[in-house]
Amino acid sequence: MAANPFHTAQAQLDEAARLLQLDDETHQLLREPMAELHVRIPVRMDDGRVKTFSGFRVQYNGSRGPCKGGIRFHPEETIDTVRALAAWMTWKTAVVDIPLGGGKGGVICDPKRLSEGELERLSRGYMRKIAYFIGPDQDVPAPDVYTTPEIMAWMMDEYETIHGRHAAGVITGKPLTLGGSPGRGDATARGGMFTLREAAHALEMDLSSATVAIQGYGNAGMHAHALVTEMFGSRVVAVSDSKGGILDARGLDLDEVKAHKAATGSVVGFAGSKSISNEDLLELEVDVLIPSALENVITGANAARIKAKVVAELANGPTTPEADEILHKKGAFVIPDFLCNAGGVTVSYFEQVQNAAYDRWKLDYVHKRLDEHMTEAFRAVYQMRQDRNVHTRSAAYLVAVQRVAEACRARGWVSGRAAVATAGVNGNGRVRVSS
Ligand code: GLU
Repeated sequence: MAANPFHTAQAQLDEAARLLQLDDETHQLLREPMAELHVRIPVRMDDGRVKTFSGFRVQYNGSRGPCKGGIRFHPEETIDTVRALAAWMTWKTAVVDIPLGGGKGGVICDPKRLSEGELERLSRGYMRKIAYFIGPDQDVPAPDVYTTPEIMAWMMDEYETIHGRHAAGVITGKPLTLGGSPGRGDATARGGMFTLREAAHALEMDLSSATVAIQGYGNAGMHAHALVTEMFGSRVVAVSDSKGGILDARGLDLDEVKAHKAATGSVVGFAGSKSISNEDLLELEVDVLIPSALENVITGANAARIKAKVVAELANGPTTPEADEILHKKGAFVIPDFLCNAGGVTVSYFEQVQNAAYDRWKLDYVHKRLDEHMTEAFRAVYQMRQDRNVHTRSAAYLVAVQRVAEACRARGWVSGRAAVATAGVNGNGRVRVSS
């Protein structure tokens, strides 16, 4: 059975707490969400019948600012997946040092089997249920798997109708015309590319001659295909979606693959390519592997067969703790999810700033600021990895958990003896504790 993502998230935190010598009060506080809402959403379907859907909104930790995180529409959504994703959002906003906490939402549904009208009624119905739980200064949703700018627009409109005032900052990832930020569309992939650039620099790896495999061809994966080619000249030799994968050692042309997917609904069957499975794709002999789909794809069962030198995790939670150890021992460099894919929430934060100021930034400025946040975050994590001799995910946890723990302590949520290292490590590699 697939690992429970929330157990994974808790195991990762436990390891960070051990390395940080985090006091028990803070550790226990950070092991569970601070608040969660479970809702039922009756929706009138096109055939006239009412179907009732289940949804959730989890606010994991808001010590550093309003909770922040996307909404997923997925047939296999569970409360534990949402809890894990909300935890990862908490570490994500902390590692890129934006003044936000972590949250996440989800609705159990299969959007591919809903008509446009049903999707709109479900989106508005979900917002009606959470409209008093969230808000621009409380908890700000955004897109995630199978949710789009159009869905964000319906949800914003519903929220504003309920509250009787404008509140563009209640949700991010909106269409540009409703206060969306330039650059939000490809922000997750672009942020990941900045971290890949920094990783390649640290590893003295030449990305212009690198081969790349991308698992998942949604917002993150498709933009990664575009950007890794455009920014570095790397060769994308394999991509996949939920129906399967394709391989062409000569390289896959972005526009042609996109056109094929638009026409047929999948990348599978692309002219001149060889069909491979999603599992095969992960094990290809490539320099860079970019998991961009769902959680739990690199596990104890296949990690030993992963050949990529760098694993850039644009997906949330693709690698289990067991697999982390195996990859680390093999010498693969993992750019962990909540660092690698933090570009999306970083530009969401820029969107909130623009909405609050009734302002509109230029695209170049968004890219520049995104680069600064991602580069700084990568360097802090890399430094921690070198100092503590831990794998990159643990290093990212050390950076992020320290920041969140420090905010909890400053608020008085935990007592003063909380072992929060304020300045990284001291000379003998032990965490310096401020009390
Ligand atoms: N869903 C994205 C993530 O997992 C973006 C969240 C946001 O923009 O708030 O990071």
